[in-house]
Amino acid sequence: MSAPSPGLSPLPPVEQVRPGLWSVPVPIPNNPLRYVFVYAFETERGPYIVDAGWNTDDAYATLCSGLAQAGFDIATVQGVLVTHIHPDHYGLAGRVREASGAWVGLHSADAALIHDRYEVPEELIVRVGTMLRRVGAPPDELASLERASMPVLPFVTAVKPDLVIEDGDKPEVPGWDLVAIWTPGHSPGHLCFWEPRNALMLSGDHVLPRITPNIPFHPQAGADPLGDFLRSLERLEGYQATEVLPAHEHRFVGLQSRLAELRAHHERRFAEVVTAVRDGTTTAWDIASHMQWSRPWDRIQGFMRRAAVGEAMAHLRALEARGVLREVPGEPSRWELARE
Ligand SMILES: [Zn+2]
Ligand SMILES: [Zn+2]
Repeated sequence: MSAPSPGLSPLPPVEQVRPGLWSVPVPIPNNPLRYVFVYAFETERGPYIVDAGWNTDDAYATLCSGLAQAGFDIATVQGVLVTHIHPDHYGLAGRVREASGAWVGLHSADAALIHDRYEVPEELIVRVGTMLRRVGAPPDELASLERASMPVLPFVTAVKPDLVIEDGDKPEVPGWDLVAIWTPGHSPGHLCFWEPRNALMLSGDHVLPRITPNIPFHPQAGADPLGDFLRSLERLEGYQATEVLPAHEHRFVGLQSRLAELRAHHERRFAEVVTAVRDGTTTAWDIASHMQWSRPWDRIQGFMRRAAVGEAMAHLRALEARGVLREVPGEPSRWELARE
């Protein structure tokens, strides 16, 4: 995460990716990723967009002007295909629907999380607290970590989808034949979209060219999100994409080699975790502090620290599913080798 500070670099330009297909960068406030790409498909009825951006006035204005640059009026958007419910993708979907009457489409596994996450988060905060005690978070950090994701709430309008998109569905985008591929991991209902006419893979946050997507472990993530993610990488293996259109960073060629790099990254992480456990580190919190991060552990704070521990937990759970590690219940729970 060494990208320039927000505001210092201009956004990438609005670009025509292929005839009738545009990429429109939309800014993300105070985030090293800086922007999310909204992809707009031209049809005879009006544009259909993949993802929408954060719910800020600035993001909305940039989306409107970017679409205008591509020749579209926001009021004519027909559908919003959301790759997953993170605020940088789904946050603006409601506002686009309000402005245009477009449908909003989302996978059922992410649609199921909206109420607890964005509408009535109190119960989820309690569950996060229980999880943090179980992973061994220090008592003096508990209260702030429990609420570490609350500041994003104003950036999301919690709209219910008009259209539930399942694996293999072809949401109606006239003339394009887009196919949804369910790729859980980064989010339980993450979707990629395959565009067969030009052999393009719209990869959302599932496959990015440089950074590895965060695979969080939290009460809404399912039992083994990293196992899900690795299986979801395999799901893309057979697609011979001419280019990959991710939601962040930049477009790239070489889907298969990027899939291999992501798998190798997590195998290295597994080895770090097993080494820490073998050396006698037992709680998920302490194991996280022994892993390699982009900055020293004591400089990782707040939501980033919770994300780091969540990532350690995701690796621990996947290793448990592989039969390598075992969790000894307790508060905190302790991890040990399953066999030696
Ligand atoms: Zn995301
Ligand atoms: Zn994202």
